[in-house]
Amino acid sequence: AAMRKSRIKRTKTVCTYCGVGCSFEVWTKDRHILKIEPVVEAPVNGVSTCIKGKFGWDYVNSEERLTRPLIRKGDKFVESSWDEALDLIASKLGSIKEQYGPNSIGYIASSKCSNEENFIFQKFARAVMGSNNVDNCSRYCQSPATAGLMRTVGLGGDSGTIVDIAKSDLIIIIGANPAESHPVLATRVKRAHKLHGQKLIVADLRRNEMAERSDLHLHPKPGTDLIWLSAVTKYIIDQGWVDREFINNRVNGYDEYVKSLDMYTLEYASEVTGLTKEELIKTANMIHEASSTCVLWAMGVTQHLGGTDTSTAICNLLLVTGNFGRPGTGAYPLRGHNNVQGACDFGTMPSYFPGYEKVTDPDVRARYEKAWNVSLPAEPGYDNHQMVDGIQEGKLKAMYLFGEEMAFVDSNSNFVEEMFGKLEFFVVQDVFFSRTAQFADVILPAAPSLEKDGTFTNTEKRIQRFHKVFEPLGESKPDWMIIQEVANRMGANWNYTHPSELMAEAASLAPLFAGVSYERLEGWNSQVWPVGPDGKGTLILYEDRFAFPDGKARLYPVAWTEPFKPDDTSYDLHLNNGRILEHFHEGNMTYKSEGITHKVPGAWVEVSPELAAERGLKNGGLVRLTSPYGAVKIRVLVTENVKGNELYLPMHTQNVDEAVNRLTSSYYDLVTHTPNYKEMKVRMEVLEED
Ligand code: SF4
Repeated sequence: AAMRKSRIKRTKTVCTYCGVGCSFEVWTKDRHILKIEPVVEAPVNGVSTCIKGKFGWDYVNSEERLTRPLIRKGDKFVESSWDEALDLIASKLGSIKEQYGPNSIGYIASSKCSNEENFIFQKFARAVMGSNNVDNCSRYCQSPATAGLMRTVGLGGDSGTIVDIAKSDLIIIIGANPAESHPVLATRVKRAHKLHGQKLIVADLRRNEMAERSDLHLHPKPGTDLIWLSAVTKYIIDQGWVDREFINNRVNGYDEYVKSLDMYTLEYASEVTGLTKEELIKTANMIHEASSTCVLWAMGVTQHLGGTDTSTAICNLLLVTGNFGRPGTGAYPLRGHNNVQGACDFGTMPSYFPGYEKVTDPDVRARYEKAWNVSLPAEPGYDNHQMVDGIQEGKLKAMYLFGEEMAFVDSNSNFVEEMFGKLEFFVVQDVFFSRTAQFADVILPAAPSLEKDGTFTNTEKRIQRFHKVFEPLGESKPDWMIIQEVANRMGANWNYTHPSELMAEAASLAPLFAGVSYERLEGWNSQVWPVGPDGKGTLILYEDRFAFPDGKARLYPVAWTEPFKPDDTSYDLHLNNGRILEHFHEGNMTYKSEGITHKVPGAWVEVSPELAAERGLKNGGLVRLTSPYGAVKIRVLVTENVKGNELYLPMHTQNVDEAVNRLTSSYYDLVTHTPNYKEMKVRMEVLEED
């Protein structure tokens, strides 16, 4: 028994699913995962986990893992050696760059990969390939929130920590479903609400678990959040409930902003949003009575034509009520992927170097040029939408994508797939043969987090270390090593031997991470950025100053953009979509984890009892949903969680015929190009069973 016990290994890791950033010990014996053990030292979750963190790891040993490079030969993929695959990539990317210029290639980074891997990838795109065409999947989710924050308070991240949220007097959750999407964070809120008298307002089309628990559930018409937020803000101003001292000392643009709210009367807001005046006044009253208010939001806000403006309206409301810079206050866009914050932070964005410094800023560029001994492109690159459109326009000829399922998660996937088919050359680097990989010319086998070292940054900007548990399966390799090998074949001479060297380089270049180091991240230690040179992090942002040169926040007037509506009125139902607890995004990991997929094997569409009665729909019946962009076949779940003509479709499935992005459009947020996934109109037909 002693022998057997000695072979059991315990390693600290960080969850690879949602942005909460739970960490725990993984107990292993050889390649077997024995259990996931949360420990009190874990800074975010302590002894909690959710089903995904606890049971979602079998995918690492899945027989479907890619273990050798694959090269397309006609319609088939054949296994190759690493040398052959890498040589082919180098020669193809080299010739395409030479023939069409550096901006004819696009680079898609990964929110599932580490900070260091994102750092080396943007360095590869910029310093080796000479292009800022590098982006990540935050373009599909929280880019509008980042933009709204940068307009008003200056930094693209949560204002405080997850522990702080629970200290708030009033939490407002808008267009988010943390009980399923961010379960461990939701547990903290539920506890504070139940035990400590914290108040909760939820604005959501769907009666999700948090809405059910809330003190006030607002159900505005789809896409009208900006209007009710502005009306509530105006009402607070009209009542004289603003924080005068805070505004006078710490905020610019108040008078102009107040003027911009003139039209947002309770009458107007009530008419457009469908909320009653009483609900609007009650919301304002609850904010007025609370000594601290914070707002949590997610895709229900951001995935609209006006996603950035609504995110801005949230910040405006918090600013006039003095709700920044204290525990329990502030703005909390909830990050989806475990490392979507880190992917943005470490520079896989077309306009930003690591740490959100603009590529257009000559001083910043000079710093990087000196360190890297190259000259760097000064113009922002294409974001991922501009890349897809660029293929259609003949400007983009090749792509290099790692750890993303873009053919499935981008909106209007029929169009995206068609464009991928037109690429002259496409490299996909992944753990699995993803649905995007079928369009590739070369597929490189990557290693998941349990097979490498690195750091992830969670939604509260906390950088945490994860450690290698197993050797990479077969011939797969950590993403950072693969990227280094490609870079070296393209003329670089890099010799990184461990991710800690990449972090050290990032810290030396980006002031936001000045004192981040692997030494300081040992064990259960973590660092929350901005991190000063002394290694001290920042748990609450904006305590003394906002992140602008004069230290003052900026109220930013915004206008409402009406949600997209197809001209054809036969698309008579509103289709909402989102996550469920058991699965994660495209499902590439959870559907390959036995403990999870047996519980929830597929997707469905939620239909209200009213609509079911009107159309003669039964639980489990099959329907076809059709939008102007495509169609899906899916089974019905009748539930009171949705109302009237509003439908809800979970976004995770392994079956492309029921994937929500067959239906979504190519329209997007006007500022950031985040698709308007939440503005879809469809029609529904009942199908006969075969
Ligand atoms: Fe992982 Fe999120 Fe669940 Fe925590 S709450 S275990 S980070 S999926």
